[in-house]
Amino acid sequence: MARLNKHLTKQHLAALKEKLHTEAERIRGNFTVKKAEYESASLTGAKDEVDAANDNILLAADMRFSNREALYYKKVLKAIAAVDTEQYGMCDDCGGEISFTRLLARPTSEMCIICKEESEKEENQNYFERRSKSLGREMNVAST
Ligand SMILES: [Zn+2]
Repeated sequence: MARLNKHLTKQHLAALKEKLHTEAERIRGNFTVKKAEYESASLTGAKDEVDAANDNILLAADMRFSNREALYYKKVLKAIAAVDTEQYGMCDDCGGEISFTRLLARPTSEMCIICKEESEKEENQNYFERRSKSLGREMNVAST
């Protein structure tokens, strides 16, 4: 079932697809650099315990970065596939069309700006609710 965003012309799609491919290339490049860094680091031989601990901290930070990149990479590939199957540029939430300017700024957008703002508002609300609940618990614990 094709449900292509009718406001996107062939030129729009070509521009967005090129952007997505550039992103994919950039991420692939980063992964290769990181891999080479690890390989050369593991060849530098004996280290004392402090150095080893620092390496672990750096590695953990890097892994977090890489996980985020990997997640984003998946989104980029998904968006490229969506362009090919003509299901690109539609809001996952309301099924409406995502504007070209929004897609150009964030080609992996899966929600229109209205739904995105709504979901962010909800996220913030949930965050504050959770926070005030846990604060309340802490205060109860303190008073007993
Ligand atoms: Zn929407």
